[in-house]
Amino acid sequence: MAAKVLSSKLLKNLRFFTRPLVTSSSTTSSSASSSPISAIPSLNLTQKPLPTATLPKSPPSILDLQDHQKLFAPLPTKKLLHASLILHMAAMEPLVDFSIWVMNSRLMGMDNSIRDLILRAIRHSFYKHFCAGEDTVEAANCLKRLNESGLRGMLDFAVEFASDNDACDRNFHGFLSTVEAAKSLPPSTVSSVVVKITAICPLNLLERVSDLLRWQQKHPSFNLPWKQNTLPIFSDSSPLYHTVKKPEPLTPEEEKHLLLGQQRLLKLCQACVEANVPLVIDAEHSTVQPAIDYLTYSSAIKYNKDDKPIVYGTIQAYLKDAKERLLLATKAADKMRVSMGFKLVRGAYMSTERKLASSLGYQSPIHNNIQQTHSCYNDCASFLLEAITNGSHGVILATHNVQSATLAAKKAQDLGIGNGNQKLEFAQVYGMAEALSFGLRNAGFQVSKYLPFGHVEIVMPYLLRRAEENRGLLSASGLDRVLTRKELCRRLKAVLF
Ligand SMILES: Cc1cc2nc3c(=O)[nH]c(=O)nc-3n(C[C@H](O)[C@H](O)[C@H](O)COP(=O)(O)OP(=O)(O)OC[C@H]3O[C@@H](n4cnc5c(N)ncnc54)[C@H](O)[C@@H]3O)c2cc1C
Repeated sequence: MAAKVLSSKLLKNLRFFTRPLVTSSSTTSSSASSSPISAIPSLNLTQKPLPTATLPKSPPSILDLQDHQKLFAPLPTKKLLHASLILHMAAMEPLVDFSIWVMNSRLMGMDNSIRDLILRAIRHSFYKHFCAGEDTVEAANCLKRLNESGLRGMLDFAVEFASDNDACDRNFHGFLSTVEAAKSLPPSTVSSVVVKITAICPLNLLERVSDLLRWQQKHPSFNLPWKQNTLPIFSDSSPLYHTVKKPEPLTPEEEKHLLLGQQRLLKLCQACVEANVPLVIDAEHSTVQPAIDYLTYSSAIKYNKDDKPIVYGTIQAYLKDAKERLLLATKAADKMRVSMGFKLVRGAYMSTERKLASSLGYQSPIHNNIQQTHSCYNDCASFLLEAITNGSHGVILATHNVQSATLAAKKAQDLGIGNGNQKLEFAQVYGMAEALSFGLRNAGFQVSKYLPFGHVEIVMPYLLRRAEENRGLLSASGLDRVLTRKELCRRLKAVLF
Protein backbone atom coordinates (compact mmCIF):
# COMPACT_ATOMS: atom_id res chain seq x y z
CA MET A 1 0.00 0.00 0.00
CA ALA A 2 2.56 2.50 1.16
CA ALA A 3 4.93 1.31 -1.53
CA LYS A 4 2.45 2.55 -4.11
CA VAL A 5 2.56 6.03 -2.63
CA LEU A 6 6.20 6.30 -3.49
CA SER A 7 6.72 5.40 -7.12
CA SER A 8 9.80 3.39 -8.02
CA LYS A 9 11.30 6.53 -9.57
CA LEU A 10 10.85 8.43 -6.34
CA LEU A 11 12.25 5.55 -4.35
CA LYS A 12 15.29 5.54 -6.61
CA ASN A 13 15.82 9.21 -5.95
CA LEU A 14 15.63 8.78 -2.22
CA ARG A 15 18.78 8.09 -0.29
CA PHE A 16 19.59 4.41 -0.32
CA PHE A 17 21.84 2.76 2.15
CA THR A 18 23.01 -0.79 2.67
CA ARG A 19 21.92 -1.49 6.27
CA PRO A 20 19.51 -4.28 7.24
CA LEU A 21 15.94 -3.90 8.46
CA VAL A 22 15.88 -2.00 11.69
CA THR A 23 13.43 0.01 13.77
CA SER A 24 13.68 2.74 16.31
CA SER A 25 13.85 2.41 20.04
CA SER A 26 10.67 1.33 21.69
CA THR A 27 10.39 2.55 25.21
CA THR A 28 10.48 5.99 26.57
CA SER A 29 7.15 6.38 28.17
CA SER A 30 7.41 3.85 30.97
CA SER A 31 9.46 4.89 33.92
CA ALA A 32 12.08 2.28 34.66
CA SER A 33 13.00 3.44 38.09
CA SER A 34 12.08 5.75 40.86
CA SER A 35 15.61 7.19 40.57
CA PRO A 36 15.88 10.64 39.02
CA ILE A 37 16.69 9.80 35.43
CA SER A 38 17.45 13.42 34.63
CA ALA A 39 20.61 13.11 36.71
CA ILE A 40 22.01 10.53 34.33
CA PRO A 41 24.04 11.45 31.27
CA SER A 42 21.93 10.13 28.41
CA LEU A 43 22.85 7.96 25.50
CA ASN A 44 23.07 9.51 22.09
CA LEU A 45 20.60 7.47 20.10
CA THR A 46 21.02 9.36 16.87
CA GLN A 47 24.66 9.07 15.95
CA LYS A 48 25.74 6.58 13.28
CA PRO A 49 27.79 3.67 14.66
CA LEU A 50 31.50 4.30 14.75
CA PRO A 51 34.24 1.85 13.86
CA THR A 52 35.64 0.19 16.99
CA ALA A 53 38.94 2.03 16.78
CA THR A 54 37.24 5.41 17.01
CA LEU A 55 34.76 4.62 19.78
CA PRO A 56 34.43 7.41 22.32
CA LYS A 57 36.00 6.83 25.72
CA SER A 58 32.81 7.77 27.58
CA PRO A 59 29.13 7.89 26.65
CA PRO A 60 28.00 11.02 24.81
CA SER A 61 25.66 13.05 26.95
CA ILE A 62 22.69 13.89 24.74
CA LEU A 63 19.67 11.66 24.44
CA ASP A 64 17.91 12.72 21.30
CA LEU A 65 15.09 10.46 20.26
CA GLN A 66 13.34 13.13 18.24
CA ASP A 67 15.73 13.67 15.35
CA HIS A 68 14.32 11.01 13.07
CA GLN A 69 16.44 12.16 10.14
CA LYS A 70 19.67 11.39 11.96
CA LEU A 71 18.18 8.38 13.68
CA PHE A 72 17.19 6.62 10.48
CA ALA A 73 19.94 7.98 8.25
CA PRO A 74 21.48 4.55 7.74
CA LEU A 75 18.16 2.97 6.67
CA PRO A 76 17.12 2.43 3.08
CA THR A 77 13.67 3.87 2.46
CA LYS A 78 12.34 0.48 1.38
CA LYS A 79 13.36 -1.05 4.70
CA LEU A 80 11.99 1.90 6.64
CA LEU A 81 8.65 1.55 4.83
CA HIS A 82 8.47 -2.14 5.66
CA ALA A 83 9.36 -1.59 9.32
CA SER A 84 6.85 1.24 9.62
CA LEU A 85 4.11 -0.80 7.96
CA ILE A 86 4.65 -3.78 10.27
CA LEU A 87 4.70 -1.62 13.41
CA HIS A 88 1.51 0.16 12.35
CA MET A 89 -0.18 -3.16 11.56
CA ALA A 90 0.86 -4.46 14.99
CA ALA A 91 -0.87 -1.48 16.59
CA MET A 92 -4.24 -2.49 15.09
CA GLU A 93 -5.74 -4.69 17.79
CA PRO A 94 -8.37 -6.43 15.58
CA LEU A 95 -5.75 -7.24 12.95
CA VAL A 96 -3.36 -8.67 15.57
CA ASP A 97 -6.21 -10.64 17.18
CA PHE A 98 -7.12 -12.05 13.78
CA SER A 99 -3.46 -12.88 12.93
CA ILE A 100 -2.98 -14.61 16.27
CA TRP A 101 -6.20 -16.56 15.76
CA VAL A 102 -5.05 -17.62 12.27
CA MET A 103 -1.56 -18.58 13.45
CA ASN A 104 -3.07 -20.75 16.21
CA SER A 105 -5.88 -22.16 14.07
CA ARG A 106 -6.33 -25.60 12.55
CA LEU A 107 -5.75 -24.01 9.16
CA MET A 108 -2.04 -24.10 9.94
CA GLY A 109 -2.14 -27.87 10.42
CA MET A 110 -3.68 -28.49 6.97
CA ASP A 111 -1.70 -29.09 3.86
CA ASN A 112 -3.51 -26.92 1.37
CA SER A 113 -3.28 -23.71 -0.60
CA ILE A 114 -4.90 -21.60 2.15
CA ARG A 115 -2.10 -22.56 4.53
CA ASP A 116 0.49 -21.76 1.85
CA LEU A 117 -1.12 -18.37 1.35
CA ILE A 118 -1.09 -17.63 5.10
CA LEU A 119 2.54 -18.69 5.39
CA ARG A 120 3.48 -16.47 2.46
CA ALA A 121 1.73 -13.50 4.07
CA ILE A 122 3.52 -14.12 7.38
CA ARG A 123 6.87 -14.60 5.62
CA HIS A 124 6.64 -11.20 3.94
CA SER A 125 5.42 -9.37 7.03
CA PHE A 126 6.23 -10.31 10.65
CA TYR A 127 8.74 -12.98 9.71
CA LYS A 128 10.78 -10.67 7.49
CA HIS A 129 10.75 -8.02 10.20
CA PHE A 130 11.69 -10.16 13.22
CA CYS A 131 13.69 -13.11 11.82
CA ALA A 132 17.12 -13.55 10.30
CA GLY A 133 16.14 -16.10 7.64
CA GLU A 134 15.38 -19.75 7.12
CA ASP A 135 18.79 -21.30 7.70
CA THR A 136 22.34 -20.65 8.87
CA VAL A 137 23.34 -19.27 5.44
CA GLU A 138 20.64 -16.59 5.51
CA ALA A 139 21.31 -15.92 9.21
CA ALA A 140 25.03 -15.49 8.44
CA ASN A 141 24.19 -12.90 5.78
CA CYS A 142 22.00 -11.06 8.24
CA LEU A 143 24.80 -11.15 10.83
CA LYS A 144 27.27 -9.71 8.36
CA ARG A 145 24.94 -6.82 7.56
CA LEU A 146 24.39 -6.18 11.27
CA ASN A 147 28.11 -6.29 11.88
CA GLU A 148 28.73 -3.67 9.21
CA SER A 149 26.64 -1.35 11.35
CA GLY A 150 28.60 -2.14 14.50
CA LEU A 151 26.25 -4.67 16.11
CA ARG A 152 26.62 -8.35 16.86
CA GLY A 153 24.12 -11.19 16.96
CA MET A 154 22.84 -13.78 19.43
CA LEU A 155 22.24 -16.64 17.01
CA ASP A 156 18.99 -18.41 17.85
CA PHE A 157 17.85 -21.55 16.04
CA ALA A 158 14.24 -20.86 16.90
CA VAL A 159 12.85 -24.29 17.84
CA GLU A 160 11.18 -24.06 21.25
CA PHE A 161 9.69 -27.39 22.33
CA ALA A 162 10.15 -31.12 21.96
CA SER A 163 7.88 -33.80 23.33
CA ASP A 164 10.03 -36.88 22.71
CA ASN A 165 13.63 -37.95 22.36
CA ASP A 166 13.62 -38.13 18.57
CA ALA A 167 12.51 -34.51 18.35
CA CYS A 168 15.14 -33.59 20.96
CA ASP A 169 17.82 -35.26 18.85
CA ARG A 170 16.72 -33.47 15.69
CA ASN A 171 16.70 -30.14 17.52
CA PHE A 172 20.07 -30.88 19.09
CA HIS A 173 21.60 -31.30 15.62
CA GLY A 174 20.08 -27.97 14.61
CA PHE A 175 21.71 -26.27 17.61
CA LEU A 176 25.01 -28.01 16.90
CA SER A 177 24.94 -26.74 13.29
CA THR A 178 24.27 -23.27 14.68
CA VAL A 179 27.43 -23.46 16.84
CA GLU A 180 29.34 -24.71 13.77
CA ALA A 181 28.02 -21.76 11.76
CA ALA A 182 29.07 -19.39 14.56
CA LYS A 183 32.54 -20.93 14.53
CA SER A 184 32.93 -20.32 10.80
CA LEU A 185 31.99 -16.62 11.07
CA PRO A 186 34.32 -13.78 12.10
CA PRO A 187 34.35 -13.61 15.96
CA SER A 188 33.10 -10.04 15.87
CA THR A 189 29.77 -11.08 14.31
CA VAL A 190 28.35 -13.63 16.78
CA SER A 191 28.25 -12.78 20.49
CA SER A 192 26.55 -16.03 21.56
CA VAL A 193 24.47 -19.01 20.53
CA VAL A 194 21.04 -19.34 22.16
CA VAL A 195 19.41 -22.59 23.24
CA LYS A 196 16.05 -23.48 24.75
CA ILE A 197 16.32 -26.48 27.07
CA THR A 198 12.68 -27.35 26.28
CA ALA A 199 13.85 -28.13 22.74
CA ILE A 200 16.53 -30.66 23.76
CA CYS A 201 14.86 -32.32 26.78
CA PRO A 202 11.21 -33.49 26.67
CA LEU A 203 8.82 -30.94 28.16
CA ASN A 204 6.93 -33.37 30.43
CA LEU A 205 10.23 -34.63 31.84
CA LEU A 206 11.28 -31.05 32.66
CA GLU A 207 7.97 -30.61 34.48
CA ARG A 208 8.59 -33.82 36.46
CA VAL A 209 12.15 -32.79 37.35
CA SER A 210 10.92 -29.32 38.40
CA ASP A 211 8.30 -30.96 40.65
CA LEU A 212 10.92 -33.16 42.27
CA LEU A 213 13.30 -30.23 42.81
CA ARG A 214 10.50 -28.20 44.40
CA TRP A 215 9.57 -31.09 46.68
CA GLN A 216 13.18 -31.37 47.79
CA GLN A 217 13.20 -27.64 48.51
CA LYS A 218 10.16 -28.18 50.77
CA HIS A 219 11.60 -31.38 52.28
CA PRO A 220 15.41 -31.20 52.23
CA SER A 221 15.82 -34.86 53.24
CA PHE A 222 13.98 -35.98 50.08
CA ASN A 223 16.57 -37.87 48.05
CA LEU A 224 17.11 -37.28 44.32
CA PRO A 225 19.66 -39.92 43.28
CA TRP A 226 20.17 -38.42 39.82
CA LYS A 227 20.88 -34.91 41.07
CA GLN A 228 24.30 -33.51 40.26
CA ASN A 229 26.23 -30.63 41.73
CA THR A 230 24.39 -27.36 41.07
CA LEU A 231 24.00 -23.77 42.29
CA PRO A 232 20.95 -22.79 44.39
CA ILE A 233 17.79 -22.91 42.27
CA PHE A 234 15.30 -21.54 44.83
CA SER A 235 15.32 -18.92 47.55
CA ASP A 236 13.29 -19.09 50.77
CA SER A 237 10.58 -16.99 49.13
CA SER A 238 10.36 -18.97 45.88
CA PRO A 239 6.82 -20.12 45.11
CA LEU A 240 6.44 -23.90 45.30
CA TYR A 241 2.68 -24.09 44.74
CA HIS A 242 3.03 -25.99 41.47
CA THR A 243 3.83 -29.17 43.42
CA VAL A 244 0.89 -30.02 45.63
CA LYS A 245 1.73 -33.61 46.56
CA LYS A 246 4.84 -35.74 46.82
CA PRO A 247 5.90 -36.61 43.26
CA GLU A 248 6.77 -40.14 42.23
CA PRO A 249 10.52 -40.64 41.79
CA LEU A 250 11.82 -40.69 38.21
CA THR A 251 11.42 -44.09 36.55
CA PRO A 252 14.61 -45.72 35.14
CA GLU A 253 13.35 -44.68 31.68
CA GLU A 254 12.89 -41.06 32.79
CA GLU A 255 16.34 -41.02 34.40
CA LYS A 256 17.77 -42.28 31.11
CA HIS A 257 16.01 -39.51 29.18
CA LEU A 258 17.16 -36.89 31.65
CA LEU A 259 20.72 -38.07 31.21
CA LEU A 260 20.30 -37.87 27.42
CA GLY A 261 19.03 -34.29 27.72
CA GLN A 262 21.94 -33.40 29.95
CA GLN A 263 24.40 -34.99 27.52
CA ARG A 264 22.97 -32.98 24.64
CA LEU A 265 23.50 -29.80 26.64
CA LEU A 266 27.05 -30.78 27.62
CA LYS A 267 27.91 -31.57 23.99
CA LEU A 268 26.66 -28.12 23.02
CA CYS A 269 28.79 -26.59 25.79
CA GLN A 270 31.83 -28.47 24.50
CA ALA A 271 31.14 -27.32 20.93
CA CYS A 272 30.84 -23.74 22.24
CA VAL A 273 34.18 -24.05 24.03
CA GLU A 274 35.75 -25.14 20.73
CA ALA A 275 34.03 -22.32 18.85
CA ASN A 276 34.93 -19.85 21.62
CA VAL A 277 31.36 -18.56 21.82
CA PRO A 278 29.08 -18.45 24.90
CA LEU A 279 25.93 -20.60 25.09
CA VAL A 280 22.95 -18.60 26.36
CA ILE A 281 20.07 -20.58 27.85
CA ASP A 282 16.65 -18.91 27.64
CA ALA A 283 14.25 -18.76 30.60
CA GLU A 284 10.69 -20.04 30.23
CA HIS A 285 7.53 -20.77 32.26
CA SER A 286 7.86 -21.36 35.99
CA THR A 287 6.46 -24.88 35.52
CA VAL A 288 9.76 -25.94 33.92
CA GLN A 289 12.22 -23.22 35.02
CA PRO A 290 13.61 -25.08 38.08
CA ALA A 291 14.71 -27.96 35.80
CA ILE A 292 16.16 -25.47 33.31
CA ASP A 293 18.12 -23.72 36.07
CA TYR A 294 19.29 -27.09 37.40
CA LEU A 295 20.63 -28.15 33.98
CA THR A 296 22.10 -24.69 33.35
CA TYR A 297 23.95 -24.49 36.66
CA SER A 298 25.22 -28.06 36.62
CA SER A 299 26.70 -27.55 33.14
CA ALA A 300 28.12 -24.15 34.15
CA ILE A 301 29.94 -25.83 37.04
CA LYS A 302 31.61 -28.11 34.49
CA TYR A 303 32.33 -25.53 31.78
CA ASN A 304 32.64 -22.08 33.35
CA LYS A 305 36.09 -22.66 34.75
CA ASP A 306 37.97 -19.92 32.97
CA ASP A 307 37.61 -16.22 33.37
CA LYS A 308 35.23 -16.07 30.40
CA PRO A 309 31.88 -17.81 31.09
CA ILE A 310 30.66 -20.29 28.47
CA VAL A 311 27.22 -21.03 29.97
CA TYR A 312 24.78 -18.15 30.57
CA GLY A 313 21.49 -18.68 32.42
CA THR A 314 18.58 -16.23 32.34
CA ILE A 315 17.00 -14.35 35.25
CA GLN A 316 13.45 -12.99 34.80
CA ALA A 317 13.17 -9.80 36.85
CA TYR A 318 9.35 -9.83 36.80
CA LEU A 319 9.46 -12.67 39.35
CA LYS A 320 9.27 -11.62 42.99
CA ASP A 321 12.08 -13.98 44.00
CA ALA A 322 14.40 -13.04 41.07
CA LYS A 323 16.86 -10.93 43.02
CA GLU A 324 17.17 -13.35 45.94
CA ARG A 325 17.83 -16.25 43.60
CA LEU A 326 20.39 -14.22 41.67
CA LEU A 327 22.25 -13.32 44.88
CA LEU A 328 22.25 -16.92 46.09
CA ALA A 329 23.46 -18.31 42.75
CA THR A 330 26.29 -15.78 42.35
CA LYS A 331 27.39 -16.24 45.97
CA ALA A 332 27.56 -20.03 45.53
CA ALA A 333 29.32 -19.62 42.17
CA ASP A 334 31.92 -17.34 43.79
CA LYS A 335 32.53 -19.93 46.49
CA MET A 336 32.99 -22.67 43.89
CA ARG A 337 35.13 -20.42 41.69
CA VAL A 338 32.66 -20.76 38.84
CA SER A 339 32.40 -17.70 36.61
CA MET A 340 28.67 -17.56 35.95
CA GLY A 341 27.02 -15.82 33.02
CA PHE A 342 23.56 -14.25 33.37
CA LYS A 343 21.19 -12.79 30.81
CA LEU A 344 18.82 -10.41 32.59
CA VAL A 345 15.30 -9.96 31.14
CA ARG A 346 11.97 -8.72 32.51
CA GLY A 347 10.12 -11.89 31.45
CA ALA A 348 7.77 -12.84 28.64
CA TYR A 349 5.14 -15.16 30.16
CA MET A 350 3.34 -12.81 32.53
CA SER A 351 -0.27 -13.67 31.71
CA THR A 352 0.34 -17.44 31.77
CA GLU A 353 2.06 -17.18 35.15
CA ARG A 354 -0.73 -15.10 36.63
CA LYS A 355 -3.43 -17.42 35.27
CA LEU A 356 -1.70 -20.55 36.59
CA ALA A 357 -1.18 -19.12 40.08
CA SER A 358 -4.74 -17.91 40.29
CA SER A 359 -6.14 -21.25 39.04
CA LEU A 360 -4.30 -22.95 41.92
CA GLY A 361 -5.50 -20.35 44.41
CA TYR A 362 -2.15 -18.66 44.97
CA GLN A 363 -0.80 -15.13 44.59
CA SER A 364 0.93 -14.39 41.32
CA PRO A 365 4.73 -14.91 41.35
CA ILE A 366 5.01 -11.72 39.24
CA HIS A 367 5.64 -8.36 40.94
CA ASN A 368 2.37 -6.64 41.87
CA ASN A 369 3.02 -3.68 39.60
CA ILE A 370 5.26 -2.67 36.73
CA GLN A 371 7.29 -0.25 38.91
CA GLN A 372 8.39 -3.14 41.11
CA THR A 373 9.48 -5.08 38.01
CA HIS A 374 11.42 -2.03 36.80
CA SER A 375 13.11 -1.64 40.20
CA CYS A 376 13.95 -5.34 40.35
CA TYR A 377 15.44 -5.20 36.85
CA ASN A 378 17.53 -2.15 37.69
CA ASP A 379 18.68 -3.59 41.04
CA CYS A 380 19.71 -6.89 39.46
CA ALA A 381 21.51 -5.05 36.64
CA SER A 382 23.35 -2.91 39.15
CA PHE A 383 24.31 -5.96 41.22
CA LEU A 384 25.57 -7.81 38.13
CA LEU A 385 27.62 -4.83 36.94
CA GLU A 386 29.33 -4.72 40.32
CA ALA A 387 29.88 -8.48 40.10
CA ILE A 388 31.70 -7.96 36.79
CA THR A 389 34.13 -5.56 38.40
CA ASN A 390 34.59 -7.72 41.49
CA GLY A 391 34.97 -11.07 39.82
CA SER A 392 34.71 -13.00 36.66
CA HIS A 393 30.97 -13.17 35.95
CA GLY A 394 29.47 -12.08 32.63
CA VAL A 395 26.19 -10.28 31.97
CA ILE A 396 23.84 -9.69 29.07
CA LEU A 397 21.41 -6.88 29.80
CA ALA A 398 18.53 -7.80 27.50
CA THR A 399 16.04 -4.94 27.42
CA HIS A 400 14.25 -2.44 25.20
CA ASN A 401 13.64 -0.13 28.10
CA VAL A 402 15.59 3.07 27.47
CA GLN A 403 15.65 4.08 31.12
CA SER A 404 16.91 0.73 32.39
CA ALA A 405 19.57 0.69 29.67
CA THR A 406 20.57 4.27 30.45
CA LEU A 407 20.85 3.58 34.18
CA ALA A 408 22.96 0.50 33.49
CA ALA A 409 25.16 2.35 31.00
CA LYS A 410 25.77 5.10 33.55
CA LYS A 411 26.56 2.57 36.28
CA ALA A 412 28.91 0.68 33.94
CA GLN A 413 30.61 3.94 33.06
CA ASP A 414 31.03 4.83 36.76
CA LEU A 415 32.50 1.40 37.41
CA GLY A 416 34.90 1.74 34.49
CA ILE A 417 33.22 -0.99 32.45
CA GLY A 418 32.70 -0.34 28.76
CA ASN A 419 34.70 0.24 25.63
CA GLY A 420 34.67 -3.34 24.46
CA ASN A 421 34.61 -5.06 27.85
CA GLN A 422 33.81 -8.69 26.96
CA LYS A 423 31.90 -9.28 30.21
CA LEU A 424 29.08 -6.85 29.43
CA GLU A 425 26.70 -7.02 26.51
CA PHE A 426 23.47 -5.11 25.91
CA ALA A 427 20.90 -6.92 23.78
CA GLN A 428 17.68 -6.18 21.95
CA VAL A 429 15.43 -8.30 19.78
CA TYR A 430 16.04 -8.03 16.01
CA GLY A 431 13.40 -5.67 14.62
CA MET A 432 12.94 -3.76 17.88
CA ALA A 433 14.61 -0.87 19.77
CA GLU A 434 17.07 -0.06 17.03
CA ALA A 435 17.88 3.47 18.23
CA LEU A 436 18.68 2.14 21.68
CA SER A 437 21.02 -0.47 20.18
CA PHE A 438 22.95 2.16 18.22
CA GLY A 439 22.97 4.62 21.11
CA LEU A 440 24.59 2.04 23.36
CA ARG A 441 26.99 0.99 20.63
CA ASN A 442 28.05 4.57 20.01
CA ALA A 443 28.61 4.97 23.75
CA GLY A 444 31.21 2.24 23.50
CA PHE A 445 29.31 -0.80 24.73
CA GLN A 446 28.96 -4.17 23.04
CA VAL A 447 25.46 -4.57 21.67
CA SER A 448 23.77 -7.60 20.16
CA LYS A 449 20.52 -8.28 18.41
CA TYR A 450 18.69 -11.48 19.37
CA LEU A 451 18.45 -13.18 15.98
CA PRO A 452 16.00 -16.07 15.57
CA PHE A 453 16.17 -18.10 12.38
CA GLY A 454 14.37 -21.15 11.02
CA HIS A 455 11.43 -22.10 8.81
CA VAL A 456 8.34 -19.95 9.20
CA GLU A 457 6.40 -22.79 10.89
CA ILE A 458 9.17 -23.28 13.49
CA VAL A 459 9.35 -19.58 14.33
CA MET A 460 5.58 -19.24 14.85
CA PRO A 461 5.55 -19.28 18.71
CA TYR A 462 8.28 -16.62 18.70
CA LEU A 463 6.32 -14.49 16.22
CA LEU A 464 3.20 -14.81 18.34
CA ARG A 465 5.10 -13.42 21.35
CA ARG A 466 6.42 -10.52 19.27
CA ALA A 467 2.91 -9.81 17.94
CA GLU A 468 1.64 -9.73 21.54
CA GLU A 469 4.49 -7.49 22.67
CA ASN A 470 3.93 -4.93 19.89
CA ARG A 471 0.14 -5.02 19.80
CA GLY A 472 -2.02 -1.97 20.46
CA LEU A 473 -1.52 1.76 20.16
CA LEU A 474 0.00 1.92 23.64
CA SER A 475 2.57 -0.82 23.06
CA ALA A 476 6.30 -0.35 23.54
CA SER A 477 6.75 0.26 19.80
CA GLY A 478 4.76 3.53 19.92
CA LEU A 479 7.85 5.66 19.57
CA ASP A 480 9.08 3.55 16.65
CA ARG A 481 5.81 4.10 14.83
CA VAL A 482 5.86 7.86 15.31
CA LEU A 483 9.49 8.28 14.30
CA THR A 484 9.38 6.03 11.24
CA ARG A 485 6.23 7.79 10.02
CA LYS A 486 7.79 11.23 10.48
CA GLU A 487 10.95 10.19 8.70
CA LEU A 488 9.07 8.72 5.74
CA CYS A 489 7.08 11.96 5.40
CA ARG A 490 10.28 13.97 5.54
CA ARG A 491 11.90 11.89 2.80
CA LEU A 492 8.82 12.12 0.62
CA LYS A 493 8.72 15.93 1.00
CA ALA A 494 12.45 16.14 0.25
CA VAL A 495 11.87 14.38 -3.06
CA LEU A 496 8.74 16.33 -3.99
CA PHE A 497 9.89 19.83 -3.10
C1 LIG B 1 17.69 -10.17 23.88
C2 LIG B 1 16.45 -10.59 24.60
C3 LIG B 1 16.34 -11.89 25.10
C4 LIG B 1 15.20 -12.29 25.80
N1 LIG B 1 15.13 -13.55 26.33
C5 LIG B 1 14.07 -13.89 27.12
C6 LIG B 1 14.03 -15.12 27.82
O1 LIG B 1 14.95 -15.94 27.75
N2 LIG B 1 12.96 -15.40 28.60
C7 LIG B 1 11.91 -14.50 28.75
O2 LIG B 1 10.97 -14.77 29.51
N3 LIG B 1 11.92 -13.32 28.08
C8 LIG B 1 12.96 -12.99 27.27
N4 LIG B 1 12.97 -11.78 26.63
C9 LIG B 1 11.75 -10.93 26.62
C10 LIG B 1 11.72 -10.04 27.85
O3 LIG B 1 11.52 -10.84 28.97
C11 LIG B 1 10.61 -8.97 27.79
O4 LIG B 1 9.39 -9.59 27.55
C12 LIG B 1 10.78 -7.87 26.77
O5 LIG B 1 12.12 -7.62 26.49
C13 LIG B 1 10.14 -6.56 27.31
O6 LIG B 1 10.83 -6.10 28.46
P1 LIG B 1 11.85 -4.85 28.44
O7 LIG B 1 12.92 -5.09 29.42
O8 LIG B 1 12.30 -4.69 27.05
O9 LIG B 1 11.08 -3.66 29.04
P2 LIG B 1 9.81 -2.83 28.66
O10 LIG B 1 9.76 -2.56 27.20
O11 LIG B 1 9.76 -1.71 29.60
O12 LIG B 1 8.68 -3.87 28.97
C14 LIG B 1 7.88 -3.79 30.06
C15 LIG B 1 6.90 -4.93 29.99
O13 LIG B 1 7.09 -5.71 31.15
C16 LIG B 1 5.88 -6.39 31.41
N5 LIG B 1 5.73 -6.45 32.88
C17 LIG B 1 6.65 -7.06 33.68
N6 LIG B 1 6.25 -7.03 34.96
C18 LIG B 1 5.07 -6.40 35.00
C19 LIG B 1 4.18 -6.09 36.08
N7 LIG B 1 4.44 -6.43 37.33
N8 LIG B 1 3.06 -5.44 35.77
C20 LIG B 1 2.78 -5.10 34.52
N9 LIG B 1 3.60 -5.38 33.46
C21 LIG B 1 4.73 -6.03 33.69
C22 LIG B 1 4.78 -5.69 30.65
O14 LIG B 1 4.35 -6.55 29.64
C23 LIG B 1 5.46 -4.49 30.03
O15 LIG B 1 4.98 -4.20 28.76
C24 LIG B 1 14.12 -11.37 25.96
C25 LIG B 1 14.25 -10.07 25.47
C26 LIG B 1 15.39 -9.66 24.82
C27 LIG B 1 15.50 -8.25 24.35
